[in-house]
Amino acid sequence: GLSAEAYSRRHEISVVGDNVPPPFTSFESTGFPSEILREVQKEGFLAPTPIQAQSWPVALQSRDIVAIAKTGSGKTLGYLLPGFIHLKRARNNPQMGPTVLVLSPTRELATQILDEAVKFGKSSRISCVCLYGGAPKGPQLRDIDRGADVVVATPGRLNDILEMKRISLHQVSYLVLDEADRMLDMGFEPQIRKIVKEIPARRQTLMYTATWPKEVRKIAADLLVKPVQVNIGNVD
Ligand code: ADP
Ligand code: MG
Repeated sequence: GLSAEAYSRRHEISVVGDNVPPPFTSFESTGFPSEILREVQKEGFLAPTPIQAQSWPVALQSRDIVAIAKTGSGKTLGYLLPGFIHLKRARNNPQMGPTVLVLSPTRELATQILDEAVKFGKSSRISCVCLYGGAPKGPQLRDIDRGADVVVATPGRLNDILEMKRISLHQVSYLVLDEADRMLDMGFEPQIRKIVKEIPARRQTLMYTATWPKEVRKIAADLLVKPVQVNIGNVD
């Protein structure tokens, strides 16, 4: 195979941070448990995408990440699979609240992330719940009460449910801000900040964004600790 440097050059991967581990250029090199690798094989995926190859080793070191990559680059599994490993290590009781929380700008995107989480987490017995607006709260509250390891939520609906005191985020230790630039464009910053106040400071935070304007840099500076920055392609 290619050397790590040749791989990174070919796939336009650039990183900013101290002692950043080299990319995983194959699924075998990830060390993911066999039940997860089996799911990847079933999908017919041949190799990690560049964002996966570089974010997995960093995420598995429990470090914060800012990843800047365009749509369609495989970001979802880029944060979900290390999240599953984190979950197993945390050994929390899902009845007491989620361990992994993914914030997403829209109902449609949240639903897609949930589908991916269910598909890849099922064989590891990972329970997942989706919370979004424009739908009755009742079924979502019942889903929470049944217990969830992973919650995928839009900021507005999660904030409503928090205000009702029907979910606890005190166990969350792996927080993902997906499409952070879009969430800020949609005006979700106040809700995101309120949600983060409910999450312990001792956590791993991963932020995924397609663009890197100053508003996104600001919230990254506020919410992440010494993040490794991973860029795929040209950053604008
Ligand atoms: P993004 O969030 O970056 O827009 P997604 O995570 O939605 O991208 O992934 C885009 C598509 O690529 C999805 O259909 C997903 O199943 C697929 N995909 C993810 N990882 C791989 C891979 N390693 N090889 C091939 N396809 C993949
Ligand atoms: Mg995505």
